[in-house]
Amino acid sequence: MTGEPTDGPCTFGAVAVTSSTIVPVRVLVTGGAGYIGSHLVDALCEAGHEVRVLDNLSTGKAENLAGRLDRVHLVNGSILDAEIVEQEVAAAQLVFHLAAAVGVRHIVDDPLNSLLTNTRGTENVLAACFRHWRKVLVASTSEVYGKTSKFPMSEDDDRVLGSTSVHRWSYSTAKAIDEHLALAYAAKQLPIVIVRYFNSYGPRIDERGYGSVVANFLRQATAGEPLTVHGDGSQSRCFTYVDDTVRGTMLAAFTPEAEGLVFNLGSTRETPILELAELIKQSVGSDSPIAPTSYESYYGPGFEDTRRRVPDVSRAREILDWEPTITLEDGLARTIEWWVKTHG
Ligand code: UDP
Repeated sequence: MTGEPTDGPCTFGAVAVTSSTIVPVRVLVTGGAGYIGSHLVDALCEAGHEVRVLDNLSTGKAENLAGRLDRVHLVNGSILDAEIVEQEVAAAQLVFHLAAAVGVRHIVDDPLNSLLTNTRGTENVLAACFRHWRKVLVASTSEVYGKTSKFPMSEDDDRVLGSTSVHRWSYSTAKAIDEHLALAYAAKQLPIVIVRYFNSYGPRIDERGYGSVVANFLRQATAGEPLTVHGDGSQSRCFTYVDDTVRGTMLAAFTPEAEGLVFNLGSTRETPILELAELIKQSVGSDSPIAPTSYESYYGPGFEDTRRRVPDVSRAREILDWEPTITLEDGLARTIEWWVKTHG
């Protein structure tokens, strides 16, 4: 192991970081070409950090980093490749681990590769961080709460999951293993922090990857196709604009008091899916019909949905001084502007 944290928990290699002063550091972002990852890379570059991205471009896209490639080095590789992970972690001072198989549809379609990426990949990243003594932020998900009926959801709440025969829950399980691993390394004093994202949306959302419902409805509404609302549309989510997601992620990584903790990062406004469909139709100015659709036709048989998901963000408010600031209407307007520009 190189360099035990002898000089205090808020030190990245030789570079001291306090909550008020952020000295530029060499940062590795796994999954940095993905939807959230690329926005994080933008924010890190704007803050003056030096960024390397490790991404296998499975759902991430090099074009998400267009305009940054003079400052950002993109390594096309997988977190399942322990050798590349080792090299990249060694070269960094701080690691943001966002690479994962994401999106419920994707998980249900390919449960094996999703599970292996989300468990072995994270094991590789965390083990390398431990060997080289690098602080690491692990991106997790509100999906870890499963189908709990306690609202709002607080970070230390019980998790409630369904049967192992329902592939959906494998994502929650894999991400919970990632959190357990990170917390186990924290018990060995490795500086880690975990953030749980709640339905982030914004420019670069991708139907194939993250953000499926917003991306689906946007595509459908702009193409004049029916908006496929699953079930009766009364299931709800708290949609969080990506700038809020990224700001919370940066604060979690750069606030020393956040070390060793898990943070919910999500909007507290609960929106039923039917209401989201109406709002997107209205914002786009679309006369697409709303088409109630069975879960089965989209996810296949035996699917189980999460009915509600609402975060308690008091920990993020108190420790990170973070609060979601962008309304769903504003966030959708910005996302639609991007969509129209890039999809014609
Ligand atoms: N959903 C929908 N129509 C779609 C895609 C998704 O009604 O075309 C629903 C989905 O069944 C779920 C909610 O929207 O109830 C959120 O789905 P998403 O896959 O975006 O993320 P989740 O929060 O379930 O991880």
